[in-house]
Order: sequence, then C-alpha cells, then structure tokens
Amino acid sequence: MDHFELRNGELHAENVPLAAIAREVGTPVYVYSRATLTRHAQVFREALSALPSVHIAFAVKSNPNLAVLRLLAKEGYGADVVSEGEMNRALKAGMPAADIVFSGVGKTRAELTAAVKAGIGQFNLESEEEGVELGEIAAALGKTATCALRVNPNVDAKTHAKISTGKAENKFGVPYDMAAGIYTRLSALPGLDMRGLAVHIGSQIGDLDPSRQAFIKMGELMRALRDQGLSVTHMDFGGGLGVPYKAGEQLPTPADYGAMVADVTQGWDVTLMFEPGRVITGNSGVLVTEVVRVKQGAGHPWVVVDAAMNDLARPAMYDAWHDFVAVKPSGETMTANVVGPICESSDTFAMAREIDAVKAGDLAAFRTAGAYGATMANTYNSRALVPEVMVDGDKWALVANRIEPATILAAEQVPEWLD
Ligand SMILES: *Cc1c(COP(=O)(O)O)cnc(C)c1O
Repeated sequence: MDHFELRNGELHAENVPLAAIAREVGTPVYVYSRATLTRHAQVFREALSALPSVHIAFAVKSNPNLAVLRLLAKEGYGADVVSEGEMNRALKAGMPAADIVFSGVGKTRAELTAAVKAGIGQFNLESEEEGVELGEIAAALGKTATCALRVNPNVDAKTHAKISTGKAENKFGVPYDMAAGIYTRLSALPGLDMRGLAVHIGSQIGDLDPSRQAFIKMGELMRALRDQGLSVTHMDFGGGLGVPYKAGEQLPTPADYGAMVADVTQGWDVTLMFEPGRVITGNSGVLVTEVVRVKQGAGHPWVVVDAAMNDLARPAMYDAWHDFVAVKPSGETMTANVVGPICESSDTFAMAREIDAVKAGDLAAFRTAGAYGATMANTYNSRALVPEVMVDGDKWALVANRIEPATILAAEQVPEWLD
C-alpha cells in the first residue's frame, strides 16, 4: 500500500499534486511519501513482533537520503551500511553507532579503523582475512570489535542473477563448510567479540522457500558452534524481501516472512537481526518525468521522456519493470516504447507496453522507484544529478538538490601542460 493516488483525475503524493512539485523543481525528480515510508517501517516491525528479541537495521544502500534516514531513525531503525560514506550518513541522521551494522566484502583498513573509532555495533565479517585485520586494528586502539561472520549458504534465492548473493559462486561470505573453523579461530583473537552469524541471499525475493532453507542451515551451524562451547547470541538474516513492481502483483508480505522466521527459529534463544531495504523504500517513491516528444517509428511509437538510465538504472541493469503512468491520465491508452534521451539502447524503460496515452509536455511517473533509484543515479551524458523531494501531508520539501552539469564541470581542470 502506498500514498500515491489519483485525486480529481490527477496523481498526488499524499495531498500534494505531483504536477505542483514538477512545476517548482522541474523534472526528472524523485518524490517520496513520508506516510508510506513510516507505514512500511511499522508494518515490517509489526510482522516481527512475535519474535522474542529483534534488531532492525535499514539497508542504507537502497535509499541513503538523509531525510529518509532521519525518518527511519525516529522509527527506531538502525542502519546496515556498506561504506564509510554510508556510516557517516547514518550517524548524521541520528542513528546510534551501536545500532549500525557494517557489511560489505571490501571494507578497507581506513574504513575498519573509522568504524571501530565510531563504536559501530556489529561488523559483519566477510572473510577470515578481514577478521584478522579488524582484530589487529581494534586491539591496537584498545577496543573490542563486535562481530558476526557472514556465511554463504549456497542457496539459490531464485531472483535476478545480478542480485543473487547466496550461491557458492557469489563473492559474499565464507563458504558454509569452512564457517565453523573460521568462527572458532576468530573467536580466539583479542580485539574481536564473535557473537553471531549473518546471511543475506539476495534481493527482490519473491519465494520464501530459499530463505527458509538458508535460515535452517544457519540454525544447524549455530548449534554446531554452541556444541563446541562457542557463544552465538545474534543471528542476522539480512534483507531481500521483494516488493510488487506491477499493479496487482502478489508477493509474500512482511507478515508471511515474519511467520516463516518465527517458525524456523523457535527455541533458538538469540537476538534476530534484519536488514530490510527495498521493502521499506521501494513503493515509497516515484520518479516524475516529462514527455519530451513522441516519435513515430517502424513499430510502436517511442515515448521519449526526460528521465533516463542515469536517473533510474534498474531497467538497464537488471531488466527491471517499473509501472509507467500519466500524472493526468485521459483514460485513453496507447501501446508504446518508453525510452530516455541517453545515447545507449539500454536506456529503455519499457517496450511494446500498454500505457496511459501521453503526448509531448505531459507529466508521467515511474512507480516503485524509492529503492535503488536516486542512489544509483549518475551524470552520464553530462546530465544533472536528479533531485529528491519528500512529501508529508500537504507539505513538501526538497531533500536533495539537483546538481547541475555546471557544478560537475567546475570540478574538472585542464592541466597547464596540455595547452
Ligand atoms: C542489499 C543488502 C540488503 C538489503 O537488501 P534489500 O533487498 O533491499 O532488502 C541487506 N543486507 C545486505 C548485506 C545487503 O547487501
């Protein structure tokens, strides 16, 4: 459920017409709904309420906007971060360091050092090598780094290959069969407090069975470690729950997911940790765009919009689907290809799709663009970095400025010796 609805024939974010935002900020522009974000955060928490002890860390990479992070901090969410840059955003948003989980396969020495100094709550180690390095860094600073070991369970998440992370051929975590040995050795190191295991098998998961299989395997590993006398007090189940991208599409709900987790983890006696991203932010945002022109071609007409793959990369990267709707639909439809202006054929949002009829100058929106949208934006083709807006009831505010090509150009220089 979200708060982007037609009212008086016009698409609104909560009580604000998207056309009003487009008029003032220009297009393309991302628009987030505060009520939708809050609702998703609460629904996800509620879905886990039957579990005895829960920690939720929002996956910052899905939408790192400072206002979004502040809102989630107020909802009691911590953060799952994958770089020092994300860590600093979460801290700036007011998330306590103790509620931040640091994930990622390539944390540098500088990042590990900064995170130890900041007092980050949990490091999800992706290798024995990383654990050894972190132990040295923490010990040298007279600190102890609290850690979980990320395990690769070799389970197929049955999602797009580029967002699968839990198969043996993926770079993430330590192989399942090596995990007990690595956990044992790292537990003996000064500077480290090994307290648990972590797993994250992929994103946009639409079938709960692979997650169930992975969690069952993690439970077996937990028991094996405890049988050796090692302590396991925390189990981090990552994120990955999918969201509907097409109107009417049915996916497992947070409640289905919570029930599955409660079933698998009965009697585990651990704090369960979660790192949801997309399920919180996906349906909370749209990308508003203007139709530049409609070009007739050999086949279906080409609807050329002013948003492009640099603003919303998912279709080009993962063949992802985003519903495309007119901001003021006439009731007519057309079959068309929807494309951006970038000089790449992958700058395509939809082919041969039945959409609301649009013409040059009309506003339209790509739905479910709140996750992995603005955060992946770039300036390819010397385009601006797309701005972001948050709506709250009747109010709205710019929460990230458009960064103009001139600003980016100003950071470049021609060396003297070239002239
Ligand atoms: C990307 C990622 C997440 C969030 O994934 P979603 O599909 O957005 O929920 C959580 N944990 C880790 C380790 C990740 O890499």
